[in-house]
Amino acid sequence: MDAPYAKLETLEPGIARVLAHNPSAFTYYGTQTYLLGEREVAVVDPGPNLSEHVDALLEAIGGRPVAAIMCTHTHRDHSPASRALAKATGALIVGCAALSLEAAGPRADEAFDADYSPVRVLSDGEDITVDGRPVTAVATPGHTSNHLCYAYGDALFSGDHVMGWSTTVVFPPDGDMAAYMASLEKLRQRSDRTYYPAHGPAVTNPQQYVRGLIGHRLQREKQILRLLSEAPRDIPGIVANAYPRLDPRLVTAAGGSVLAHLLDLERRGLVERNEQQWSKAA
Ligand SMILES: [Zn+2]
Repeated sequence: MDAPYAKLETLEPGIARVLAHNPSAFTYYGTQTYLLGEREVAVVDPGPNLSEHVDALLEAIGGRPVAAIMCTHTHRDHSPASRALAKATGALIVGCAALSLEAAGPRADEAFDADYSPVRVLSDGEDITVDGRPVTAVATPGHTSNHLCYAYGDALFSGDHVMGWSTTVVFPPDGDMAAYMASLEKLRQRSDRTYYPAHGPAVTNPQQYVRGLIGHRLQREKQILRLLSEAPRDIPGIVANAYPRLDPRLVTAAGGSVLAHLLDLERRGLVERNEQQWSKAA
C-alpha cells in the first residue's frame, strides 16, 4: 500500500491533509486529518492516537497557532489524538459533544472514544474563527448522534456522514436512520463546492452525490419491505438476501444498517417485530 501516510499534502490554499496509518474495512486507507488555515490553523478529526500520526501533525502545524482541535464525532478513529495534540500545542478541543452511551450495542464499547472531552461544544450554525474565516458547525446526526460537519468557505468537512469511498454505517442504538436521512437532506439543500470526508477521496459533485446516497437508502428500504412482504425474516436472513457477495468483515455492519432501517420502518408503522422475526405490518 503506497498511501501517503504521515505526509502533509496541500489540497488547495488553506486546506491540507495528513493521512493516519489506520487502514481497515471501515476506514479505507485510514483517517484523513485536515488542517484548515495558513497563518493560524484548526485541526479537523485529529484521528487515532498513533505517535507517528501525532508527530506528523505537529510537524505539519510547524509551530503555527492552533485555533482549535475539532472532531466530527467520537469514534475511535477520529478523536483520540485530540488529547495528545491539545497537550502538545495548548489548543482547545472544540466541536462535537461527548457521548454518554449506555451499555447497549455491540459497537458501543468498541467504537467510541469514552475519554473525549471538549472544552466547548458547538451547536448547529455556531462558528469559530480560524485564520480570519469562520468554521461553522453543521449538525448532521445519523452515523452518530453527535456528528457535526464543518463548513469553511465553500468546502465542507463531512466526517463519516458522507464519505468518498463507501456508504456510511448507521448502527443503532446511537446510529439512527431517520436522523441520517434528514441530515442528508440538509446537506442536499446546501451549496457547498467540495466535501472533504474523513475517509476516501474528496467529493467534487456534492449535490448529485448526496442525491445518490438518498436514493440508495430509499432503494434499500424498498428492498427490505419487499423481502418482508414475501415472508417474515430475521436480520441475518435479510442481510443474506439484500447484500449478496458481502465482504464477511462487513456482515455485522450490514446487520446494523438493516436494524436501523427496521427501527425507522417500525416507528412509521410499516413493519412489526415478533422476537427475532420482522414482518410487514398488516
Ligand atoms: Zn465514525
